[in-house]
Amino acid sequence: MANFWLVTFACFAAISIASGEDYDYIKGGAIGPDNWGGICQTGKKQSPIDIDTSTVEYDSDLGDFALRNYDEKPSENFTITNTNHTLKVSFSPNFFDVRGGGLPGTFTTVQFHLHWGSDNNKGAEHTVNEMQYPAEIHFVSFNTKYPDISEALGHSDGLAVLGVFLEVGAENSAYEELLSNISDLNPGGAKEEIAPFMLKPLLAANTSNYYRYAGSLTTPTCNQAVTWTVFKDAVKIPERLLTNLRALRMGDNSYMVDNYRPVQPLHGRMVKSSFMIKKDVTSSVDGIALKVSNVVLMLMLFGVLFLM
Ligand SMILES: [Zn+2]
Repeated sequence: MANFWLVTFACFAAISIASGEDYDYIKGGAIGPDNWGGICQTGKKQSPIDIDTSTVEYDSDLGDFALRNYDEKPSENFTITNTNHTLKVSFSPNFFDVRGGGLPGTFTTVQFHLHWGSDNNKGAEHTVNEMQYPAEIHFVSFNTKYPDISEALGHSDGLAVLGVFLEVGAENSAYEELLSNISDLNPGGAKEEIAPFMLKPLLAANTSNYYRYAGSLTTPTCNQAVTWTVFKDAVKIPERLLTNLRALRMGDNSYMVDNYRPVQPLHGRMVKSSFMIKKDVTSSVDGIALKVSNVVLMLMLFGVLFLM
């Protein structure tokens, strides 16, 4: 009998992983990131990734974004949800739109959500040269050539996600409005209506400098449908607001923290940037090597000229 229940439980666990309904972020846990099923496990274009700026390639085709209505408020209320995995704010499609920025079409934004850590040394999903910010906000949009997000999830050009790093710093009125009154949000999907607000103030002032790569959703079912934009500049928010996020609870009453997926292998993918990255001389030894190689080049040039 015990075996029967064990098998039954195992089947349920397998089904719930396969359906992407039940997952958590506990490393080594039964439904933690290592055991997320399907394409999460086998995909070669998974997200998030570490952005190694020494291998990023500048692409002059990655121009500015046109963010339609990002500095306007729709008339309809937003809904805010503690999903048990994140804090999510959703709204109707076809008000906030994203195009330009090298994206393959016009994408309409339908929600944003956040990932954060239990302390300031972790929390963001993407890392830059293995450095991890304390939080990251994701603005999720789907390609308007598809009727809805479910359809878009089945296509490589289906989604565009804009990722913005958050770091500890000065007061920020936009994030204050978003995060100052979240303590009453019950875990597990009870939605609350909130007054609409502009999205633009949640982004960094500079949206021209960003990284670009082809990736996936960072939660099951990990669909490889996302054109990722990760902005170079982080947005500063006071630590108090991160503390508010860290005080949110999950259904089992534990704190909702460290809700980020570990970085995934690139599998040969190229990460591009909209801006020239100064390949910084990282140490004085490298600096000397660089100067020596310049001198050698000059000598070779002179040598060629002299011999001619
Ligand atoms: Zn996300």
